[in-house]
Amino acid sequence: MLPAAAQQEASKLKVVATFSILGDFARNVGGDRVDVTTLVGPNGDVHVYSPTAADAEAIRNARLVIVNGLGLEGWLPRLVKSSGGNATTVVATRGIVPRKVAAGEGLSRDRGAGSVDPHAWQSVANAEIYVANIRDAMVAADPTNAATYRANASAYLAKLTSLDHEVRKALATIPVERRRVISTHDAFGYFAAAYDIMFMAPQGVSTETEPSARDIATIIAQIRKEKIPAVFLENISDPRLMRQIASETGAAIGGTLYSDSLTGENGPAPSYIEMVRHNVRTIVRALANSPALSSRVIQE
Ligand code: ZN
Repeated sequence: MLPAAAQQEASKLKVVATFSILGDFARNVGGDRVDVTTLVGPNGDVHVYSPTAADAEAIRNARLVIVNGLGLEGWLPRLVKSSGGNATTVVATRGIVPRKVAAGEGLSRDRGAGSVDPHAWQSVANAEIYVANIRDAMVAADPTNAATYRANASAYLAKLTSLDHEVRKALATIPVERRRVISTHDAFGYFAAAYDIMFMAPQGVSTETEPSARDIATIIAQIRKEKIPAVFLENISDPRLMRQIASETGAAIGGTLYSDSLTGENGPAPSYIEMVRHNVRTIVRALANSPALSSRVIQE
């Protein structure tokens, strides 16, 4: 017979989450009743990922595989198929209205108008839907611990609701006409729609395709024309392009935004809540001290 601690460990609900943000949601809902394995870890890029043998093993042993869906994890179906096992796939975005990339949106003609933007978690209201879906899946897979999952989820949902208020309050200090931001790839469409801020990016909704020279020239022209004060780096992307754009336009590097991936424990975004707080703080700080815009105000 196994020792009590090992027995308890073995009885935990085995959950696989495709990337770090989903892993964080799953841990918040599952608490000590679940054993969560995250495939794409901190600072990894979930758009382009090469699964490992250990990932296949984790999926084979899992009861639940939590995925974003909306085309984010193109590498996953093949992995699940080859892994075997009988895990239930949980699409965490179920019930969310997907944002389609409109024709003419962004900068490039071939940026995939009509394609679906997978970054739904960037709106905190959507994150609440993710969490409810994860809770329901855990309750269904492990009804013995249903009360725990429900209690954990409701405590975490309350934190998300106050986070949403916090974001609105912080951004309200920036006049609407100043809320213009350049990020590396188009990961903030849901954030932009939820919180009334404009984002542009040289790279599309996936990091699979590199921006073309024309994409880069267009965004440089746009930054100059609109006097956009700051461009932001991302933890999952090469910073060189944004540094080049900043030096050609005089825009400041406003800091690093975390879009698709959390950081490790010692980074500034070890959890979803910390990630959103960090992003908002970084944006507000950059836009509050925007020399390009203040000089334009003086000229006018
Ligand atoms: Zn992305």
